[in-house]
Amino acid sequence: MSIPLLDLKAQYRDLKTELDGAIEEVMSSAGFIGGPHVRELESEIAEYCGTRHAVACGNGTDALFLILAAMGIGKGAEVITTPFTFIATAEAIAHVGATPVFVDVEPDTYNLDVSQIEAAVTERTRAIMPVHIFGQCADMDPIREIARRHDLRVIEDACQAIGATYRGARAGSLGDVAAFSFFPSKNLGCAGDGGILTTDDEELAQACRKLANHGTTVKYYHDTIGVNSRLDALQAAILRVKLPHLDRWNAERRAAAARYDELLADSGLTLTATREYGESVVHLYIVRHPERDRLMEALRDAGIGTAAYYPVPLHRQEAFAHLGSGAGALPVAESVAEQTFALPGFPGITDAQQAEVVRVLREALG
Ligand SMILES: *Cc1c(COP(=O)(O)O)cnc(C)c1O
Repeated sequence: MSIPLLDLKAQYRDLKTELDGAIEEVMSSAGFIGGPHVRELESEIAEYCGTRHAVACGNGTDALFLILAAMGIGKGAEVITTPFTFIATAEAIAHVGATPVFVDVEPDTYNLDVSQIEAAVTERTRAIMPVHIFGQCADMDPIREIARRHDLRVIEDACQAIGATYRGARAGSLGDVAAFSFFPSKNLGCAGDGGILTTDDEELAQACRKLANHGTTVKYYHDTIGVNSRLDALQAAILRVKLPHLDRWNAERRAAAARYDELLADSGLTLTATREYGESVVHLYIVRHPERDRLMEALRDAGIGTAAYYPVPLHRQEAFAHLGSGAGALPVAESVAEQTFALPGFPGITDAQQAEVVRVLREALG
């Protein structure tokens, strides 16, 4: 039985009529940049996340960049974030000229260890950028409290967590502003690159919108140097077909995770802890074991999709070598990076498929 890590073809089959209709409508209208679908998607995402504003842009990395640039965070500034994430989080910080300051993670949720944040605050710190890793929110109350005490902004990297909750509120509404990605493999994905940012701060939303559109609000008059980072009308139309299904897909991901948790309880694998403060959207179902590479090989040999998330923590990447973080600097991130991997947990995965994944793993574990 071949089981992919993620099955995007099944999703297209389910929604083919609606998706093809939306694509055809945009093609016939020949309105490819901006327009009603982009505006409607922005208000639908703002409403979904519980924020006053949403600003669509080219991708999740750009959303983070636009936020930082609009806040005036740049050269000489420091932004506290996690090393156990996709490179884009810290890349955006570096691209505005600021310095990412990495704080270690929790060994059971892989989110920022909030007890270590305050020690990393300096006179140059301007913001904290938690990542809601693998779909579970970081512990936002202590993060917001530290930010309040030191007058810092809180920027959520919510790229993996659309729909996740923290004490009843949705990711995207938990800090000053948040970035989301619509990369195809994300919980809400488009047919290419796409992103959006959410905030209650009208001034910030306008500043981001202007930066994303060549620094202009009135055509051919440019107040600042911006960039070209817009969401295509085609992508917006596709996302509007998918958004009404997101909660169901997220519930299916959670159900698959709960089933794995049960089936793997005494297997010797370390499972991802779920915190009571909110609901995860299980972007990836992650397990941990010292013999990761051997277990992943057994899965692949059996035709089962798997991948290591993340094999190298950001402070140990060549691209950030100039920051001078040696081996041992962030021991938890370094140790989990050698052990964590994802199992197929996509919406619609069947009981039989999960049973097969568990059978292969248990056999390899001996
Ligand atoms: C996917 C992702 C991003 C970047 O999103 P793109 O749309 O691919 O630019 C940023 N941060 C995290 C944590 C992500 O998973």
